[in-house]
Amino acid sequence: MAAVAEQAKNLRTPIVCVMGHVDHGKTSLLDKIRGTAVVDKEAGAITQHIGATEVPLSTIQTLCKGIMGGNVVVPGLLFIDTPGHHAFTTLRSRGGALADLAVVVVDINEGFQPQTIEAINILKQFKTPFLVAANKIDRIQGWTPTKNMPFIKSFANQPEFVKNVIETRTYELVGKLSDLGFSSDRYDRIRDFTRNVGIIPLSAKTGEGVPDLLMMLIGLAQKFLEDGLKLHVTGPGLGTVLELKEERGLGYTIDTIFYDGEVRTGDTIVIGGKNKPIVTKVRALLKPKPNREIRIEEKFDRVNKLTAAAGVKILAPNLEEAMAGSPVRVTKEANLESAINEIEAEMERARIECDEL
Ligand code: GDP
Repeated sequence: MAAVAEQAKNLRTPIVCVMGHVDHGKTSLLDKIRGTAVVDKEAGAITQHIGATEVPLSTIQTLCKGIMGGNVVVPGLLFIDTPGHHAFTTLRSRGGALADLAVVVVDINEGFQPQTIEAINILKQFKTPFLVAANKIDRIQGWTPTKNMPFIKSFANQPEFVKNVIETRTYELVGKLSDLGFSSDRYDRIRDFTRNVGIIPLSAKTGEGVPDLLMMLIGLAQKFLEDGLKLHVTGPGLGTVLELKEERGLGYTIDTIFYDGEVRTGDTIVIGGKNKPIVTKVRALLKPKPNREIRIEEKFDRVNKLTAAAGVKILAPNLEEAMAGSPVRVTKEANLESAINEIEAEMERARIECDEL
C-alpha cells in the first residue's frame, strides 16, 4: 500500500492519442468520451485543453462502476486530437512519442484499412503501447443496444448469432495484428497486457464499450508505469508545440501540450524555431472555457500556473518562427545557454529521425 501511495505522488495524467483509418470513428469516439463524461454530472467534470480533453479519474470510475478494480494511481486521462499520422510522428517528447498510450480505432465491419496498418506500424516503431477499439458494433445486424453499457455486459445480452459475428470479426482483427507482429485478443481474455494487444469491441454511437476502453487505458497506464513509463512530474515545464496560430487581438500564439513539469506566467521559455531556438517570456497562459464563446477575449481563461500533463495556449512575443512539433522548455536565466543547446540538439535529432521515417 505504501508503495502505491508513494507512486501516486506527483503522477501526471497519461497522454492518449486516438488514431485510425478515415471514417472509422475517431472523432465520434472522442466526442462520445467527452459527451459521456459531460453527462456524468456527479463525477468531476472534464476539462477542455488546447487540442486535448482531460477526463478525470472520478468520471472514469463512475462510468466504469462494477467493472473497474481499486488501487488506481493515475489522476485521469488526457486525450489529444492529432490530425493525422504525420502529427503523431512530429509530436515528440525527448525523442519518444508525445503520447504515452494510443487507441487505434477500426470499424469492426470493414476491418483493417491502409491507415490502420500505417498507424500500427508507427506505434510499433515508437514502442507506444496501444489498444484496438473495434468500433461500430451497433451496425452488426441483430445487435440490441443499451446506451453506455460496458461491452461485457451488453455482449452477454445479445443473441447467439450476434455473439458469433462479433467473435468472428474480432478474430479477423487478431489475424491482422498477428501479420503485423502483435499477439492480441479480446481484452477480457488477456492476462498480460505488456505482451498482448487488447481489442475492445465498442460503439462510439451508443457508447457501449466506452467504459471498458477507459478502464483498460487506466489499467494499461498503470501496468506500463510499473515497467518504467515516466509519469512523474518534476521541475521546469517541458512541452511540444501542437500548432502556431495567429489570434485576432492577441498576435502569434502557440498551442502547447506540456508533458512534464510546471510553467508560470513570466517564465522564460526556449522553443524550437524555423532557423534557431526562440527565447521569450510567457506573457499569458490561456485555457479554453468549457462552453466556447465566439468573441476571442471571452474564449479563454487566463491561468497563472500549469502542471503537466496539460494543453494550453501560450501568448508571448517573437513566436512567428515556432513550428508544430517543436520542443518547448521552461528555463531559469542562469541555465539559458544549456536550454538553448538542448533545444538545438532535440531539433537536430527530430530532423534526422523524420528523414528516416
Ligand atoms: P473519423 O474520420 O475516424 O473521425 O470518423 P467519424 O467519427 O467522423 O465517423 C465517420 C462516420 O461513421 C460518421 O458518419 C459517424 O456518425 C459514423 N460512426 C462513427 N462511429 C460509429 C458507431 O459506433 N456506430 C455507427 N452506427 N456509426 C458510427
